[in-house]
Amino acid sequence: MKQTYRGSCHCGAVRYEADLNLAQGTAKCNCSICFKTRSWMAFVPADAFRLLAGKEFLGDYQFGKRTVHHLFCTRCGVRSFARATDDKGNPAYALRVNCLDGVDPQVLVNAPVVYMDMLHDDFRSAPAETRHL
Ligand SMILES: [Zn+2]
Repeated sequence: MKQTYRGSCHCGAVRYEADLNLAQGTAKCNCSICFKTRSWMAFVPADAFRLLAGKEFLGDYQFGKRTVHHLFCTRCGVRSFARATDDKGNPAYALRVNCLDGVDPQVLVNAPVVYMDMLHDDFRSAPAETRHL
């Protein structure tokens, strides 16, 4: 069932809320930035995301094709969400599951994980090895 979660960075300057159902799937990826930042994501469309605070604290990092805004808190450094577009070109957000506040650990344990091989530009396929992600 969809519910409203609150998410935040470590220092609390950046805060948001989003409507999603973690049981519908989360994602991990092997691309260069996801690997280095241990990314665990849940995707939501733009109309399910509301930034509550911290717009002025958001730093923006882009690389490669510059399709994703890898946002981070300029005070504490935590990446609590990213902004991009979905595969149909609609605005979307990639929330960091680990930055959602107060989630029952059992909900996280039960959340399905889809692995994406973005190191090879293939979000439809899982990498050959995923245990280290
Ligand atoms: Zn912060």
